[in-house]
Amino acid sequence: MSVSSHASRFSAPPTDAAGRIPLIGPNLPEMQAALAVHGLPAFRSKQVWHWIYQRGVRDFDSMANLPKDMRALLMEKYSIERPKVVAEQRSDDGTIKWLLAMSDGQQVETVFIPEAKRGTLCISSQVGCTLTCKFCHTGTQPLVRNLGAHEILQQIMHARDVLGEWPQTGEKQSNFINQDGGRDLTNIVMMGMGEPLYNYDNVAQALKICMDADGLAIGKRRITLSTSGVVPQIRQCGAELGVNLAVSLHAANDVLRSKLMPINNKYPLTELLEACRTYPGVSDIRRITFEYVMLKDVNDTDDDARQLTKILSGIPCKINIIPFNIWPGSGFECSAEERINAFARILEKAGYDAPVRRPRGRDILAACGQLKSASLRARRTES
Ligand code: SAH
Ligand code: SF4
Repeated sequence: MSVSSHASRFSAPPTDAAGRIPLIGPNLPEMQAALAVHGLPAFRSKQVWHWIYQRGVRDFDSMANLPKDMRALLMEKYSIERPKVVAEQRSDDGTIKWLLAMSDGQQVETVFIPEAKRGTLCISSQVGCTLTCKFCHTGTQPLVRNLGAHEILQQIMHARDVLGEWPQTGEKQSNFINQDGGRDLTNIVMMGMGEPLYNYDNVAQALKICMDADGLAIGKRRITLSTSGVVPQIRQCGAELGVNLAVSLHAANDVLRSKLMPINNKYPLTELLEACRTYPGVSDIRRITFEYVMLKDVNDTDDDARQLTKILSGIPCKINIIPFNIWPGSGFECSAEERINAFARILEKAGYDAPVRRPRGRDILAACGQLKSASLRARRTES
């Protein structure tokens, strides 16, 4: 199935249950065109835009400089609401995981991970995923639909609401983010549910608003998109968005990778690695991140590590070693700590940066897709 037919079959509903159109998501010229239909001049859209993205208001009535009748019109026809929180889990280490319901009730996961000098929000791009990677819990959930641009942005805006991180009157958003320690949410990773490059148009639309200094003002250096390896859209993403790229590799040869990740049959390693090698802007300063999940007795031998050092040769990169996050029924186990360390040492000896990702939120069903499944199970048990 082509990416575009994929997108149209599984798109987000154009309106909410009350028939209102989302006003989060269109870019400024699109918003101006939409509001011009009601006879509203362009400067009114700029005001609305400012309230939405720079002040984070959640209802039109708070847009104090708009005439009352305009606010009433916007309220009737448009929506700037946030998703509903179905579940929130807070880990002892500060990680917060939300299960969010969109206007049609479809649910996705969003996770905030605070660290010493930055805070990363992991957002979803689809409800479920079509790509059935064997070790991934989301892969067990059928794709229900793509998220719309508004639903991708709403996850970030929801996190800013909870963290209390909208600039106050007089503070400029782009300055605010530069203040040392001024904001907890500094970085975005598209590593939640779904394959972002199978929903490219909506992801691109949302990320452009996210990167816009007059939008959410989170720059491209602070955004990382993770993909299982959709080669044509990797090129498009590099050319059009220029965000950091993370690639889920998980195996160093085609035979094993195709077993673990069926997408490898379509875009095998040589093609994938060529797209990485030529990703725009890649240099020793802006490296590709390769993700490698450690699966006991599957992809974790010294020989696997040595193969990895060979195939990645010449690509400015770092390799994130990820201890497998166990989920019931997966059929996989996580490699032992000594094995993980030995694997990382081989990569490091060959000159690669190979940090082992410290597991976060272990006490809160942190593996992607798990909170959603647990919630569905609970609902089934209740009904
Ligand atoms: N579809 C995209 C982004 C979402 S998955 C992709 O595949 O890159 C985000 C990352 O989590 C991927 O690297 C994926 O391989 C990894 N992952 C999935 N299930 C995991 C698990 N149970 N334990 C550890 N990492 C996992
Ligand atoms: Fe989809 Fe990524 Fe999970 Fe694979 S690892 S099933 S691409 S979400």
